[in-house]
Amino acid sequence: MSTTETDASNAIDNLAHTRVEDCYQCGKCSAGCPMAEHMDLLPNQLIRLIQMDRLDKAVRSEAIWQCVSCLTCSTRCPKSVDCAAILDALRQMSIQRDCVSPRHRRTVLFQRAFLDNIRRNGRLRELELVGEFKMRGFFSDRSVALLLKDAMLGPKMLKRRKLHLWSRRVKDRGVVRRIFERCESPDGDYSSE
Ligand code: SF4
Ligand code: SF4
Repeated sequence: MSTTETDASNAIDNLAHTRVEDCYQCGKCSAGCPMAEHMDLLPNQLIRLIQMDRLDKAVRSEAIWQCVSCLTCSTRCPKSVDCAAILDALRQMSIQRDCVSPRHRRTVLFQRAFLDNIRRNGRLRELELVGEFKMRGFFSDRSVALLLKDAMLGPKMLKRRKLHLWSRRVKDRGVVRRIFERCESPDGDYSSE
């Protein structure tokens, strides 16, 4: 199957560092995907949408939020198309275009709180992350129930040493800041609120 480059495939190529147009729809990526049965569109169908310049539909799909980034699709592809990176790019675009479905907004909130925590501290400070995630969720949804959800898990996790009250920040946080700066493209791969 021959395909032509579209604006959508160029945009995804740049973000995912791969070549969408190389995909010839053999379906091996989808056949090996452990999350395929939970997806509304299969990985190869998402790629086909991009080839057809239907980025609007791809970034609104549920499938991109079901992907667990296991990389199986990328390793199976006979054309070396980095399918996992493409789904990553679609998630990124979904956030940038503000079209994440309400079901997955808390996933995005968690990812932002997690990355901001690493950016500030150089490593994860778990209790700070939990507090920040809960507060962001509260201000986003105005739901006290969500704020208090899982509250009883905290003491149990502390007792089992699954949650740590304290951890030091790394000394040279400038290095961490520079890593973030290099990862973030000028048009905003990931932007903190
Ligand atoms: S395995 Fe590769 S070539 Fe085959 S459908 Fe998936 S991305 Fe396309
Ligand atoms: S990286 Fe995502 S799309 Fe690819 S096989 Fe894993 S779960 Fe499926």
